[in-house]
Amino acid sequence: MDPFEDTLQRLREAFRSGRTQPAEFRAAQLKGLGRFLQEHKQLLQEALAQDLHKSAFQADVSELILCQKEVDLALRNLHAWMKDQPVAKNLLTQLSSAFIRKEPFGLVLILSPWNYPVNLTLLPLVGALAAGNCVVLKPSEISRGTEKVLAEVLPQYLDQSCFAVMLGGPEETGQLLKHKFDYILFTGQLRMKVNPMSSGSPRVGKIVMAAAAKHLTPVTLELGGKNPCYVDDNCDAQIVANRVAFFRYFNAGQTCVAPDYVLCSPDMQERLVPALQSAIARFYGEDPRASPDLGRIINEKHFQRLRGLLGCGRVAIGGQSEESDRYIAPTVLVDVQETEPVMQEEIFGPILPIVTVRSLDEAIDFINRREKPLALYAFSNSSQVVNQALARTSSGNFGGNEGFMYLTLWSMPFGGVGHSGMGRYHGKFSFDTFSNHRACLLSHAGLEKLNELHYPPYTAVKKS
Ligand code: NAD
Repeated sequence: MDPFEDTLQRLREAFRSGRTQPAEFRAAQLKGLGRFLQEHKQLLQEALAQDLHKSAFQADVSELILCQKEVDLALRNLHAWMKDQPVAKNLLTQLSSAFIRKEPFGLVLILSPWNYPVNLTLLPLVGALAAGNCVVLKPSEISRGTEKVLAEVLPQYLDQSCFAVMLGGPEETGQLLKHKFDYILFTGQLRMKVNPMSSGSPRVGKIVMAAAAKHLTPVTLELGGKNPCYVDDNCDAQIVANRVAFFRYFNAGQTCVAPDYVLCSPDMQERLVPALQSAIARFYGEDPRASPDLGRIINEKHFQRLRGLLGCGRVAIGGQSEESDRYIAPTVLVDVQETEPVMQEEIFGPILPIVTVRSLDEAIDFINRREKPLALYAFSNSSQVVNQALARTSSGNFGGNEGFMYLTLWSMPFGGVGHSGMGRYHGKFSFDTFSNHRACLLSHAGLEKLNELHYPPYTAVKKS
């Protein structure tokens, strides 16, 4: 007995009925989603605190407000985004109407991870609903508190003939993926290399893509990887340390776009370590474990994996861990070799290794010898250095003297490249991702004389 078949059948029929197409229906779903966010703000904050020890403030700024803003943006622009887009014509089609129609794909599956479990589930949902699709959400089974709220409360705010939340881990998701969807957006892991010390399912992105390929279903893959952070000698070490520490340790380092490791000269490492120490003390106090602003590791498996990584290089800052509350101190590792496990896999925790290089050229070579990252950061007082780091590398996103603030700009597409993912979303890019861009040419039913010009036989007069 397939637990998903009946629901999926219901959603497909709802889509075929055409009820998700009108702007009014789409707007009603978006408003429902907005109401859910407003009316259950506290419930969501509590779930995020339970799952990740997120403070209410962090839950607001990194999850709830971003989702609310995405809903508001889609509502404000829905009619404009849905409008047929006229395109340039040639001589033969002057009298016709040529345009691109954005039509919904049909049944969309959104698979999401646990690290920003509200944001990474609802942000794509906004785009899929705005584009007029029926949607199945499969939140992460690991962030249990949030999964429960999404499964039990959210459906009350949406049309349940067109929307469903399905639950389960790898096995159930594997079953779900046997079904045919019209589009799949997956956010999760594609490990670059599986560390023997780490457990868990490797290469989930590839599993999803292989399942989609069986039905020729298009996919967006939002994956992770190791995000390099180059720090030039020519910069203010304290300013850089503040920014790197903030973005590395936010959500206890469990952020796909966090700086994963620092590349800098041995001199810069000497200056950076005390500056990072001072930034960490300022942000989280002398005993970071007591700070309400430092998150916890999501579960025992990830805690053990991260604890194993603390043995790499030499601990310069932090290094403490406490199993009872899955606490890992904000940590900096120095003298790290690129062959060590901490440099072989995405860290996804509050650990920052520093690898020394002699020059910008060596740093760029180090980066380019690896898979293209989701994000790349470069810090320097010299705009030339930042621009070189930008011009001579590739990544999904780039921050010059900056962390992942680009996530707050809806004017920017978000996504990876190569092993860090494919496809883009956020704002109008989400609407476009979840729409089939249909090329349409509507010609006059008469005026056949014009068409006679390109019908055979191609006589000398026609060729001239
Ligand atoms: P994950 O791949 O383990 O899980 C993501 C989803 O896939 C979950 O819903 C899970 O139930 C499902 N899943 C897990 N194993 C599966 C399997 N074998 N078959 C089918 N489905 C399976 O990822 P995660 O641990 O929840 O999230 C962390 C990863 O996600 C990190 O690598 C991080 O970089 C990445 N990430 C990327 C982005 C981005 O926007 N690019 C954002 C957040 C996280």
